Amino acid sequence: MLTQQDISHLRADFPILTQKVHGSQLVYFDNAATTQKPEIVVNTIVNHYFNANANIHRGVHFLSQKATEAHEQAREAVTDFIGAKNSKEIIFTRGTTEAINLVATSFGEKFCTKGDEIIISVMEHHSNIVPWQLLAERKRLKINIIPISEKGELDYNYFKNILNEKTKIVAITHVSNVLGTINNVKKIVEIAHENNIPVLLDGAQAIPHICLNINEIDADFYVFSAHKIYGPTGIGILYGKDKFLEQMPPYQGGGEMISKVTFEKTTYADLPFKFEAGTPDFIGSTAFAAALKYVQSIGIKQIAQYENELLKYATEKILEIPQIKIYGNSAEKSAALSFNVGNIHHYDIGVLLDQQGVAVRTGHHCAQPLMDFYKIAGTVRASFAFYNTFEEIDIFITALKKAVKMLS
Ligand code: PLP
Repeated sequence: MLTQQDISHLRADFPILTQKVHGSQLVYFDNAATTQKPEIVVNTIVNHYFNANANIHRGVHFLSQKATEAHEQAREAVTDFIGAKNSKEIIFTRGTTEAINLVATSFGEKFCTKGDEIIISVMEHHSNIVPWQLLAERKRLKINIIPISEKGELDYNYFKNILNEKTKIVAITHVSNVLGTINNVKKIVEIAHENNIPVLLDGAQAIPHICLNINEIDADFYVFSAHKIYGPTGIGILYGKDKFLEQMPPYQGGGEMISKVTFEKTTYADLPFKFEAGTPDFIGSTAFAAALKYVQSIGIKQIAQYENELLKYATEKILEIPQIKIYGNSAEKSAALSFNVGNIHHYDIGVLLDQQGVAVRTGHHCAQPLMDFYKIAGTVRASFAFYNTFEEIDIFITALKKAVKMLS
């Protein structure tokens, strides 16, 4: 396991963590919203702009070829990171949200007709609800929802029973951004595939914490954002099996995604470019690859093991607080701790923690149906990354106790 000495070396890669907030040392526990960036990622962006900035794919000149090579190498780095077979199945998007919108629109256009059904779950982020609702409205489809237990675990039997010949796709989060629940995605995919139904997995919260092998899971689509895994904002990934991507129509039209354009008829580029209209974020992709290599150099399994210890410690400590209620107590859980204390408003706790230098997220976490399920308006969420420490958890618990005392 990563030692405290390893962690203090790694923390030196994140200059932002040395900041003081309202006079106190920053404790950054909002990693599920976005992670901080190591120097290597920021330096890659700066170096790329200073030394290799030119638009890609179309240029004959040196700089353009250099930038194209870096962008395509980044695609290979993503392919390698998730264990995909072929880099043509890796589409660069603006992030998880755009990737899901792409699939909902394009897959929906090709494969869904009036009366068909889509399956999602109660614990989805709005990004994995609203694009399907837009599609359902357009095509008059039905959305079926998998319920969860009080602990925050999916009802797999219910899931089995609602699958039918009208179901066209199952779209489920790998890890809940509120509950931390790690869903049994292998089981979900197996059950869906027994019925010949493809599965999209929202990997936004899984990618920084779970060692992913896309072939083992066998998901048909897998989506995530770079900024959740120490990479830059504004770029993300859609992994899709080519047997689907080949059949799906383009999501957006423009440069890069065409083979030949005439006013009579336009033909489209091969994968992955068919889905990458316009100038891509070729600086972001390179910085993203740097982030993935950085994570690989630490080891995602080591990261997960250490974060689990942080979560265990934080859970034990927080349970000492009277009237604490934790949302998400599944057997398999990732590094997010959502809670409320008695009737105290989550926002008030967030503000008082901030005044003591502790950054947490409060509110509905873009999961309002999940809040409705628990009959609450929101929670406080502390979410951890490998650069967090046990000492920071102690600071957080002390600050939380103080906040609770003030608000009780
Ligand atoms: N899905 C989940 C589970 C998330 O946690 C998030 C972001 O918090 C998203 C989707 C949306 O990600 P992005 O805003 O990077 O597109």
